[in-house]
Amino acid sequence: MNTPRHPFRLNLGFFLPQSIGYRHDFPFAYEEIELGKDFLLRKFEGTVTVSRMPQGLLLQGLFEGDFELECVRCLKPYQHRLHSELTELYVFNRRDASDDDLILPDNAQVDLDEFIREDAEVDIPFHPICKEDCEGLCQVCGTDLNLGDCGHDELPPEEPDDSISPFAGLKDLR
Ligand SMILES: [Zn+2]
Ligand SMILES: [Zn+2]
Repeated sequence: MNTPRHPFRLNLGFFLPQSIGYRHDFPFAYEEIELGKDFLLRKFEGTVTVSRMPQGLLLQGLFEGDFELECVRCLKPYQHRLHSELTELYVFNRRDASDDDLILPDNAQVDLDEFIREDAEVDIPFHPICKEDCEGLCQVCGTDLNLGDCGHDELPPEEPDDSISPFAGLKDLR
């Protein structure tokens, strides 16, 4: 499936004549969406609610989508559900803007790709785990312990330590 050219573009011109407090939901759903290079999300869905405020338009969005990661325990790829949130105020006049605010362009078109991508990227875990109780791999033979028990103990047996052996002293005598 091809990613649309402007998957998260909103035309907000029709908000301008609305009274303060007017709001409208924009739902999004993509089977697959590429939010950036090598950043493909599947089963993507979410909604942006736009509200007409006195000084501009407030956008509030919640999104989620599956991203393929490799489990650090069993080393298998799995789909991790990433979440993304956005809250942006687009003001009508530059003089109303504080540091965090954006200016609504003259054509009242906004693209939300970047906001959605940035917040989704932050949600990628440093130590991805396919499931809370993933058993991981056997450290002796590499068997995936989620699939079955190979019979090995959790850690390989320690090498016998000569220094604590009762015969350690004999070496010196030889
Ligand atoms: Zn795993
Ligand atoms: Zn094993």
